[in-house]
Amino acid sequence: MPQFWKPGSERPRLLDDEEGGVLFYTTSSSSSSGFGYASIEKQRQRLPVYNYRTAILYLVETHATTIVVGETGSGKTTQIPQYLKEAGWADGGRVIACTQPRRLAVQAVASRVAEEMGVKLGEEVGYTIRFEDITNTGVTRIKFLTDGVLLREMMDDPLLSKYSVIMVDEAHERSLSTDILLGLLKKIQRRRPELRLIISSATIEAKSMAAFFQTSKRRLGLEAEEHGPRTEPAILSVEGRGFNVQLFYVEESVPDYLQAAVSTVLSIHDQEPMGDILVFLTGQDDIDAAVQLITDEAQSNGKSASGLIVLPLYSGLSRADQDLIFSPTPRGKRKVVISTNIAETSLTLEGIVYVVDGGFSKQRFYNPISDIENLVVAPISKASARQRAGRAGRVRPGKCYRLYTEEYFVNEMSTEGIPEMQRSSLISSVIQLKALGIDNILGFDWLSSPSPEAMVRALEVLYSLGVLDDDAKLTSPAGFQVAEIPLDPMISKMILASNQLGCSEEIITISAVLSVQSIWISVRGAQKELDEAKMRFAAAEGDHVTFLNVYKGFLQSDKSSKWCHNNFINYHAMKKVIEIREQLRRITQRLRIVLKSCENDMQVVRKAITAGFFSNACHLEAFSHNGLYKTVRSSQEVYIHPSSVLFRVNPKWVIYHSIMSTDRQYMRNVISIDPSWLREAAPHFYRQKQPNPIAL
Ligand code: ADP
Ligand code: MG
Repeated sequence: MPQFWKPGSERPRLLDDEEGGVLFYTTSSSSSSGFGYASIEKQRQRLPVYNYRTAILYLVETHATTIVVGETGSGKTTQIPQYLKEAGWADGGRVIACTQPRRLAVQAVASRVAEEMGVKLGEEVGYTIRFEDITNTGVTRIKFLTDGVLLREMMDDPLLSKYSVIMVDEAHERSLSTDILLGLLKKIQRRRPELRLIISSATIEAKSMAAFFQTSKRRLGLEAEEHGPRTEPAILSVEGRGFNVQLFYVEESVPDYLQAAVSTVLSIHDQEPMGDILVFLTGQDDIDAAVQLITDEAQSNGKSASGLIVLPLYSGLSRADQDLIFSPTPRGKRKVVISTNIAETSLTLEGIVYVVDGGFSKQRFYNPISDIENLVVAPISKASARQRAGRAGRVRPGKCYRLYTEEYFVNEMSTEGIPEMQRSSLISSVIQLKALGIDNILGFDWLSSPSPEAMVRALEVLYSLGVLDDDAKLTSPAGFQVAEIPLDPMISKMILASNQLGCSEEIITISAVLSVQSIWISVRGAQKELDEAKMRFAAAEGDHVTFLNVYKGFLQSDKSSKWCHNNFINYHAMKKVIEIREQLRRITQRLRIVLKSCENDMQVVRKAITAGFFSNACHLEAFSHNGLYKTVRSSQEVYIHPSSVLFRVNPKWVIYHSIMSTDRQYMRNVISIDPSWLREAAPHFYRQKQPNPIAL
């Protein structure tokens, strides 16, 4: 579909033409995609951030907080921690921390830095993500970790005393954990004037971030001012060296963005000079489908078949697959990476010359009125669109194909995204802050305040879960135990309940499965086979019990990858389930939960699920022929997702694990329940609601 495209205007448009544009410079540097050939030391010195090495070290030395703004790929994440170590910030047993919002980014940058330093990953350079700790206490000097994990570390070490410098990276993403972390770090700074913070990001309203840390000046008082570092934050902008990127828009909005992305990739491959392609889609399903479509179509069209290497990029990818993404493209080949927005700023891929921007990403949305948190495929912001386009200009002038109209970009896209804080359920955040002894949550120093409604909802659910008492303090032991388990509080509560009900073996298996993305493999065009495979495991009770059957089968197969393949089950996901389950087993042991199996009494398993997820109860509408459910809590219309084993079965009462919105609100991972269990599990919660006259 070559005529698909229309340049944005007569003359090629440069990125910095757009209002509020990103810093972009054309340089005379003639580097091709040949970074792979230079020595690592040379590569390091070529990065823009290298010219600022002295400045960065000086600012960190003299300021409590340094804000570093620089284009993606300029070397912030991989270089700054190394500079700090070289300058002695990790001497005397101290550790340099660098946080990332995304797990895959943590793993990727840690292994890159270990490689650059010539050390084994897990020794001087290590990383920690939930359920995976690749560090060596006493040896690890540079530690990459998710912002969520650093928050957890505060439960054992509230002042994070082992760290000399904490670099909060990707701050522009404004993830929920980043925001909370920044608020807490500001508090810690008051107690630890020797601690240094670096806040780094690709695009930031550096001023508002600076203003946030500025206020600590007064509180720190003059004393610290005289002896310690300066309290007003320093801002440093690392000049990027991206090349011009020519923008193209579709003439009319596309009906199927997946298909449009596929045709665009194929036509770039046919018509454009060599250079790798980066495609932004929304999630694993779409990405896997696109990888397959491109591979199939390229094969059926002999000319294109040669030379395309098509790779997916999303969280949960195995190590080997990650390595493929970062390895240099062989001569004469063209790499096509199909990614979620993880490649927007978190990871830098060398050699990208063409970007195809689908214009959407999966985003969390929480509605405090309906009390539903959704994962929604939603339009990205202009700021994101610019970042995505920028990925095409790393090695030479590039092209970005936007799968939306120019009119849409100009008139409809919002300028900035909304911080996750303001579109999430606050249940997890509230319990975390409470566990850290922060009682006045509304009075917490938020970077952007959450809505009071969302706060009230969170407190209400936590109270009903028995996690908070009448004074909104953590209950003992339940509240503290729930806070201790590194899972969603509702899952943690389900685990505690299983202890009483005698089905903890089963419930930790279910919890582990719910912690991975999906245990099923979806192959476009093989829906029927997948459904048939599912039916082999399907349990009448619902998805959670089905998971138990899959897990049992996997163990009986001796954890065979072939067995997984034959049953449309994701082998890597199942390996992960085994790992997570093992970790949960250890955590529950620490909490003195005795592991016990209920020996196929699925009623107690469902009761345990109800004890955690009662607020997600729904009932089938009496006269509904199309499977319409309403949530008990707020009468929202929801349907069972086609991927559930209860799809079309439609039991009268169900509980869902999560909601996904596309054309409708779909419940994912559903279990049937008896409504009398609801009142048993949460009398307060279900006594309170009046407007909907449902006899429970
Ligand atoms: P920033 O954080 O400013 O976006 P990074 O420090 O992540 O930049 O990346 C700097 C450079 O290091 C990249 O441009 C790339 O050349 C190289 N690099 C980073 N990660 C990897 C990796 N996993 N494999 C190969 N090269 C990498
Ligand atoms: Mg980075």
